[in-house]
Amino acid sequence: MNNRLMGSLLTFVAVVAGLSFATPSHASAKIVTDADATAAVKSSVSLGTAEADGGAATGKASLTPAAKRWSTTTITYKIASGSSYYKSVWQNAVKVWNRSGVVNLVPTSGKADITLSNSNSPMGKNDSTVGITYSSYYNNKNMNGLSVLASAKSYVFTNVANRYHYSKGERTNVAEHELGHALGLEHNVGKHSVMYYATRDQSVSKPDVNGLVHSYR
Ligand SMILES: [Zn+2]
Repeated sequence: MNNRLMGSLLTFVAVVAGLSFATPSHASAKIVTDADATAAVKSSVSLGTAEADGGAATGKASLTPAAKRWSTTTITYKIASGSSYYKSVWQNAVKVWNRSGVVNLVPTSGKADITLSNSNSPMGKNDSTVGITYSSYYNNKNMNGLSVLASAKSYVFTNVANRYHYSKGERTNVAEHELGHALGLEHNVGKHSVMYYATRDQSVSKPDVNGLVHSYR
């Protein structure tokens, strides 16, 4: 990630943290907020030229790495998108992760662990970031060596997806990628993972399910 992008990411994180995470429900625990963005790619063959988004990709391609997890495998979500199109995109992404059998994402009308939405990118008109996830975690709790998540909010950036002519299926792949971050997964070094940093054609695959199994064991 270049410094300019990092600068705008950090600025936006601060704003989001102030709005959404100012009143943590666990008063004594410290909450840390960070962000992870996904670069848009023009096609599956131009991945090499896509801008890196700063998420660390480590380890082997067969096991998507993780840095965080929720304390339980039943996790609540709320779709905040106003459009039926994006509701359906997120609904499909939720279905794909639930099919893993590792986590059980359940809708709630109350306060959700994960909020899913779409918006225009706040990063400037030439930025190629097509999705982003902000997450907060407790810096004094961990399970399996992973930080325990407190909240997460994922976006697909409508204007960037439009500019790069993403299909609904491709937007769903981006939604799956962002939801992967919201579940605690990091970037996979391999292209055959939905957590490859510049995914477009790839849905959740074996390495991603393996990563989830490993995190939530
Ligand atoms: Zn990412």
